[in-house]
Order: sequence, then C-alpha cells, then structure tokens
Amino acid sequence: MSEQYMGSCLCGAVNYQMEGPLKYFQYCHCSRCQKVTGTAHAANIFVPPERFQWLTGEDQLGRFEHPEAKYYATSFCKQCGSNMPWLVQGGGNVVVPAGSLDQDPGIRPSSSLFWADRACWYTEPKELPKFDGMPVKK
Ligand SMILES: [Zn+2]
Ligand SMILES: [Zn+2]
Repeated sequence: MSEQYMGSCLCGAVNYQMEGPLKYFQYCHCSRCQKVTGTAHAANIFVPPERFQWLTGEDQLGRFEHPEAKYYATSFCKQCGSNMPWLVQGGGNVVVPAGSLDQDPGIRPSSSLFWADRACWYTEPKELPKFDGMPVKK
C-alpha cells in the first residue's frame, strides 16, 4: 500500500489527502508566486490528479486562473485565505503548497525555479540567525 498524506487550511474547513509517491518538490521564486504567497517563494509539491482527493470543504475553495498563464492558477480557502492545492490549467498536475501539509511529505525541495526573478530582498536562510521561537527580549 502506498503512503497517504493529509493536508488542511488554517481554519480547518478544507481538508485533502493524496497518495504517494509524490512527483517532485520545488521552490518557485517567480513574480506570480511572490504575489500569491505574499512571501519570497512558493514551496510546491506536484502530484498526479488521480492521486489527489478533497475530503472536506471543496465548496469553500476559491480559484483564480491567471488570464495570461498557460498553467498557472491559484486556490485558496474562502474563510481563512490559506493557499490550497490547485489543478494546473490543462489538468496535468495538482500543485500542493507544502505548508498546507499536516505531515512530512517524505521528499525535499530539489530546485529553486525562476531564481532570476527572486525578490530583491530575498536572503538565504543559512545567512540568518535562528531562534526556536520568538527571540527572547532582555
Ligand atoms: Zn480555511
Ligand atoms: Zn512561481
């Protein structure tokens, strides 16, 4: 039996599951992903549509298809605004925002796409000091 992976939005209205093996995991730094995520890059896992299934809240999903894009679309929970998995225009893959997963997907990012378009302020995490929570004020 293959591995099952579950995911959900912040408010819990939308839940999904998918079945491994997952295809690949990439960061995308393109300008569209910056806008949609509100941050430096998307962290996307690709899975074939036949191995992806909505469990609850499919009727709570909004979708936006970029008019100039061949594949790009976005999906989000209408209650809490979390980015949710989306079927690419044309239907070849479901793109799953890795942050929406409720567990370890087992695979790790293999590349950063649209690196040339990365935000001018992007700083690689390895260059930043790390805190396990909020830094303690002294
Ligand atoms: Zn939600
Ligand atoms: Zn992108």
